[in-house]
Amino acid sequence: MKITRHPILTILCALAMVSCGASRSGSATDSAALPAASDYTPAFNADSAYSYVKSQVDMGPRVPNTPAHRRASAWLADELRRHGASVTLQPMQLKAFDGTLLDAVNVFGQFNPGAERRILLLAHYDCRPWADNDPDPDKHTLPVDGANDGASGVGVILELARLMGQQAPDCGVDILFADAEDWGNSGDDSSWALGTRYFAGNPPVADYAPDEAILLDMVGAPDAVFPHEIYSLQNAPGLVSGIWATAASLGLEDRFISQPGGAINDDHVELLKAGIPAVDIIDLRPEGGFPDRWHTTSDNMEGISAQTLGDVGRVIETYIRTR
Ligand SMILES: [Zn+2]
Repeated sequence: MKITRHPILTILCALAMVSCGASRSGSATDSAALPAASDYTPAFNADSAYSYVKSQVDMGPRVPNTPAHRRASAWLADELRRHGASVTLQPMQLKAFDGTLLDAVNVFGQFNPGAERRILLLAHYDCRPWADNDPDPDKHTLPVDGANDGASGVGVILELARLMGQQAPDCGVDILFADAEDWGNSGDDSSWALGTRYFAGNPPVADYAPDEAILLDMVGAPDAVFPHEIYSLQNAPGLVSGIWATAASLGLEDRFISQPGGAINDDHVELLKAGIPAVDIIDLRPEGGFPDRWHTTSDNMEGISAQTLGDVGRVIETYIRTR
């Protein structure tokens, strides 16, 4: 993903919020069995999420067209099935900005597939082929481990999948492990998020239209902070306020900062363009920009904190269970 200077999405119309939450507030009977966020005790296991991150990194860089990438997609599908999700693989051949043909595959899973109200959780699982932000220019041609940039969001979502398997959610919960997010060119906004763009244009389920989508990206650094990403705030303000209010109810207002951050060209933009309210929970520093390890050879397990993974996981779990 990259930081965008110009808010390209301001032309999007205000998107109607027809979420689990909206339905809840519209019906006293629907909401009767659901606890308030302040009464819910999350079960999210941060160590489990950490081990899910490490399992990915141990495979090696999950760069498209490599054996590690193929192992990762198969493993993600197996894990979702193991937790009881209905899994659909979406293979696709994508053309990257540099002309490379990527043998890519989105991994899509559904819990409670018959439910009408649905929330989509997503993270990209591919790794950037080049550590082109590394302080050492000699390392710019090396792939990144993607412990934070990719694996952290996937790890949190896999732990959430484990919990959904233990206790089915009231609303439908879908999971997209998106491919080919990070084979992009900083001068070309359209070169990123290729897998999610394909997913939005070719839904694996007929008439697929989740009510809300939550993207997790770089959610593992010890000192991570999550301000309101600008495209999310402009196009899905109700979803942003709901998630940040949930974080505040858990005492995490210093992690989930209620102030605007940068505008990020990331997977959620493709969903917003398709009319799906979507939020990007992404580590954006007050001084501007991403964490130091971003797109460097230092994006490894040394930069991952179970505490941060746990904070993010508890917020999303509580949000899902109380909406
Ligand atoms: Zn990246």
